Amino acid sequence: MPKARIVVVEDEPAIRRGVADALRLSGYDVTETADGQTGLREAAAAGVDLVLLDIMLPKVDGLSVLAELRRANPTRPVILLTARGSEDDRVRGLKMGADDYVVKPFSAKELIARVEAILRRTMKPVPEVRRLCVGTGAIDLQRRELRWGDGSRAELSELEAGLLKYLVSNRDRAVSREELLSRVWCIATAGLETRAVDMHVARLRAKLRDPLGGDDQPDAIVTVRAHGYMAGPALVAAEVAKV
Ligand code: CA
Repeated sequence: MPKARIVVVEDEPAIRRGVADALRLSGYDVTETADGQTGLREAAAAGVDLVLLDIMLPKVDGLSVLAELRRANPTRPVILLTARGSEDDRVRGLKMGADDYVVKPFSAKELIARVEAILRRTMKPVPEVRRLCVGTGAIDLQRRELRWGDGSRAELSELEAGLLKYLVSNRDRAVSREELLSRVWCIATAGLETRAVDMHVARLRAKLRDPLGGDDQPDAIVTVRAHGYMAGPALVAAEVAKV
């Protein structure tokens, strides 16, 4: 398993250093930030596995950082570092999607245990989808190639293959444009680039129309109104690699 990347957002130097040192000693790759503005930028960056977030921060407070982060990265794990007695903040933070919290003063041992518990859940390897079927067609995601029953073929771009793989791996739920941008495009965004997702999906849909399927074909990718996209009934995983 790769070294997990953790961002620590905490303005009190002694606590920040203590937390960062303990994490590094446990083998994590740590980025330290001391205010909410830099903290949000680092926390939303691609490749971050977990965020430790203080609530009382200069520039932008922790709960605002959490709200922004949830818009850009709906599933990125966050543990709040909270002061004793700030129960309202903790409850608000959990309702806003924080995964866990610790109350100051906490021990390094307790913090590491909570970090490990969350990473065990979020970083477990997922079976990799390698081949898909769509109508009479077969898609090889590694070769990024689509072959139809009539012998015609099409190539998929890296983004198109990534998009299909992500939608099929999460086929039991609708996936938002923001999540696709963060997970497939690997960019964090406040919603400006979501049209790029729509354009790619439109192009991919056209590519996935079965030349032998006639006019009344089931959808390979379904639009979920006001939310995003989902793998449709026509798209079926044919080969999944063992973990
Ligand atoms: Ca603070």
